[in-house]
Amino acid sequence: MKIRELFENSDRTILSFEVFPPKKISPIESVYGKLEEICALKPDFISVTYGAGGTGGHSRTCEIASKIKNGLGVESMAHLTCVNSTRAMIDETLQDFKEHNIENILALRGDYVDGVEPQKDFAHASDLCAYIKSKGDFDVAGACYPEVHLDAKDEVEDVLNLKKKVDSGADHLISQLFFDNGAFYRFLERTKIAGIDVPVEAGIMPVTNKSQIERMVSMCGASLPVKFTKIMQKYESKPEALRDAGIAYAVEQIVDLIANGVDGIHLYTMNNPYIARKITEAVSSLL
Ligand code: FAD
Repeated sequence: MKIRELFENSDRTILSFEVFPPKKISPIESVYGKLEEICALKPDFISVTYGAGGTGGHSRTCEIASKIKNGLGVESMAHLTCVNSTRAMIDETLQDFKEHNIENILALRGDYVDGVEPQKDFAHASDLCAYIKSKGDFDVAGACYPEVHLDAKDEVEDVLNLKKKVDSGADHLISQLFFDNGAFYRFLERTKIAGIDVPVEAGIMPVTNKSQIERMVSMCGASLPVKFTKIMQKYESKPEALRDAGIAYAVEQIVDLIANGVDGIHLYTMNNPYIARKITEAVSSLL
């Protein structure tokens, strides 16, 4: 099923999850138990990340997305980055997706990798969106940044670039994680002003440990509300309490987002079935 049809045919909030493939040194089956538990929660779809760098390592993303869809009965979406790929590499990946019945792709630029010269075929995610659309009947999603992408000069430039991505074929958008719902609502206002009218899912990452959040925040620039940093300070040396407080904070964010009519919630599960289950149980009657 194409994910855009989920948005078109549903008057409730869509709930999706994100998972990542195991590292190459581990057998692919090492993640199957967790995937089964995560799929049993029946989200609307599950997206599968694409290894940073993206130099041809698509096969595990494809394999996991196929397992979720064809083996465990939940719709899947494969992430795909382009900045380190040639057109021929992207063609090969798209062929692999077709052969595995994967219809939904999150088209990304990806990050530049130190010491790796970027390829020249795709400069921006919008180039990849247009290319995928020209290559078959895929549903294409794009990433967006409520607190502005780190490479962008300012929020105006960033939202105008996002409009180019939608005009190039992005059917819907998934946001970077954020901890301040106000930042997301201000971003939605900018998208409306820019004429972006596709569904936007809000990316929510529950805190599980302090170092994980510090790493994520330094990578993506999300701001930390005082309420949130107080939780981190109080429970940083009590892992279970921090996990439970992180779940409670994420649930509070989601309740507010649903009450404000958000199109969808995209939960960064970090392959943790316990956290995915606690949050799903808390919000499923509200969707
Ligand atoms: P773009 O949309 O190309 O934007 C990047 C920058 O270029 C922005 O500053 C934008 O304003 C500017 N820009 C965009 N289009 C144009 C244009 N036409 N002209 C001029 N400037 C332009 N990374 C991975 O490696 N693997 C993953 O699986 C992965 N999954 C992700 C999932 C989500 C939901 C999100 C939000 C991010 C994910 N990322 C992933 C990270 C992503 O690859 C990086 O954030 C990357 O730096 C930008 O990718 P993008 O697709 O948003 O790029």
